[in-house]
Amino acid sequence: MVKDNLKKIRERIFSVCAKIKRNPETITIVAVSKGRTLEQIKEAIAAGLYNIGENRVQEALTKSNEQRAKWHMVGHLQTNKVKEAVKIFDLIHSVDSLRLAEEIDKQAKALDKIQDILIEVKTSPEATKFGFNPDEVSGAVKQISALMNVRVLGLMTIAPAVDNPEEARPYFRQLRELRDSINSLQLETCSLKLLSMGMTDDFEVAIEEGSDMVRLGKAIFEG
Ligand SMILES: *Cc1c(COP(=O)(O)O)cnc(C)c1O
Repeated sequence: MVKDNLKKIRERIFSVCAKIKRNPETITIVAVSKGRTLEQIKEAIAAGLYNIGENRVQEALTKSNEQRAKWHMVGHLQTNKVKEAVKIFDLIHSVDSLRLAEEIDKQAKALDKIQDILIEVKTSPEATKFGFNPDEVSGAVKQISALMNVRVLGLMTIAPAVDNPEEARPYFRQLRELRDSINSLQLETCSLKLLSMGMTDDFEVAIEEGSDMVRLGKAIFEG
């Protein structure tokens, strides 16, 4: 099932990319496997999905022995879980406070690791209670990118659930504009490359607005 789903998803990504003249190879699919079994994750990896997303550290711990994958933390991360999280995750998408970033820096340092992270932005107050407000982001990026053991690769957002994916477009556009405006400041310590945005119900619109990473659960594991 995962294999057939993935084929359809790839076709859809190909056709959006053809429309906007972008190389589909540059879009990373993160298979969000919260609540799925280890068997399903193995099926996803066998189908060629090498980026697996979880939203709980505990759940990831029991699954992440699957070494062929890169592990992504996409859910809210509590500071008391950071020590475990930095052991497992290749990319933490959900850095939503300075305090959390500082704890990640500290725990990464203890492991002699540079932890790749994204800054979560609350582009919509109704979608999630987590994330920096848009007007706080450039200040946060400056402070966080000064930490030695984290590397800020970009921004992440969750759009509100809407009936028509077009309604999610303004949130994605806002994230791209924010990224571009922060990059135009030409901070010495940081240039933001990645946008993590788009889920099962809205990933095509997110790609049109410049997404580099789509986080897909239902599209991969259901149907
Ligand atoms: C669950 C989840 C996803 C995947 O959602 P689907 O609608 O199943 O594609 C993506 N991002 C985050 C942060 C999630 O928690």
